[in-house]
Amino acid sequence: MNFTEFGFDARLMEGIDASGYEEATPVQEQVIPLVMAGKDVIASAQTGTGKTAAFLLPLINKIITDPHEDHTNNALVIVPTRELAIQIAQHMEGLSYFTSVSSIAVYGGGDGGAFVQEKKALSHGADVVICTPGKMMAHIKMGYVKLSGLKYLILDEADRMLDMGFYDDIMFIINHLPKKRQNLLFSATMPHKIRELARKILHEPAEVNISISKPNERIKQEAFVVYDTQKIPLVKYLLQKNNFKSVLIFCSSKISVKQLTRDLRRARVLADEIHSDLEQDKREEVLMQFKSRRLPVLVATDILSRGIDIDNIDLVINYDVPHDGEDYVHRIGRTARAAAEGTAITFISEKEQRKFQRIEQLLGKEVHKEKIPEQFGEGPEYRKAHHTHQSGQGHSRSRLMS
Ligand code: AMP
Repeated sequence: MNFTEFGFDARLMEGIDASGYEEATPVQEQVIPLVMAGKDVIASAQTGTGKTAAFLLPLINKIITDPHEDHTNNALVIVPTRELAIQIAQHMEGLSYFTSVSSIAVYGGGDGGAFVQEKKALSHGADVVICTPGKMMAHIKMGYVKLSGLKYLILDEADRMLDMGFYDDIMFIINHLPKKRQNLLFSATMPHKIRELARKILHEPAEVNISISKPNERIKQEAFVVYDTQKIPLVKYLLQKNNFKSVLIFCSSKISVKQLTRDLRRARVLADEIHSDLEQDKREEVLMQFKSRRLPVLVATDILSRGIDIDNIDLVINYDVPHDGEDYVHRIGRTARAAAEGTAITFISEKEQRKFQRIEQLLGKEVHKEKIPEQFGEGPEYRKAHHTHQSGQGHSRSRLMS
């Protein structure tokens, strides 16, 4: 789903573009319309799903477009750790860069200067306050925090906050907020105590569940960091070098499925294709050939990534990085079914590196990067993304401290 479909303000769209987001992730697709409609939401979503932007984007949009009191803190985002507070504040700054929405991160461990700056912002009123519970409670106790006009409360990583013993601090803060407000709660897991907390603070919440199953342990996962032009020679090489009997190659578009199948056939690889342009009869015939192992290599779009039951596929190649973690797990789950072993290899082009890092975040581990065989030349470097916002004509009056 494209971000244009949410009806966001043009200034926010600029921030989305500058952050390099092209399509909404599943949690964003589900959560954003609910928040825009004013609903309370409880969502189970882990880090790596894009959950931060799922609440920041509609929040920024609402602050830009809905009338609100000027000298009050408008939204409170409560998070378990200072690291997360800083990370969310950086996201916030990037996304709101072209707007006049202000934000401040309030967390423990800073020096006296930080405290003074926090006090000033909280008593004047920031649009979005991103805070850890203990530090926020300390400020509220001093009496200067403007909360009378607060309209939005977000609890992020709520399960972790309860595990860290923040229940009382959170309730203390909430008891100082206006009763009429919109509440969002995000949590990686949904144990009973989270449901209890939700019952206390959310009002008729909509529920969103983005839980992804972890891939099967028996799948050997590898990746190659490549230039686009290295992909086809590398596929041919992998197919020729190993004696795989049954190989499924995923491409994200019909065009690349067709192109790759053509190239493989030219290289005398017995390959066929499956995608939505084919008649149902033809699809079934190709699938039968592949299942019966008369056809060793099948190139497919994601129509084949879910629910299709084919045993004994020894290798899955992601010719390009799937859209999100869910698709990745489904695609590679086509191999190592039943008791079998299997390998999944992903090609990561330069522009797909961030997308793959998101998937790795979701998997909770890094996938091993294989070295490209020498004859294909050097591949690009795998650069770890750290969130930066582009320089430009921004006029954010953000008071973000980092
Ligand atoms: P989160 O799950 O919120 O911690 O986000 C994980 C990473 O995904 C962050 O680096 C975000 O900048 C990035 N991200 C979030 N939404 C998108 C999107 N729609 N497209 C690309 N990257 C995204």
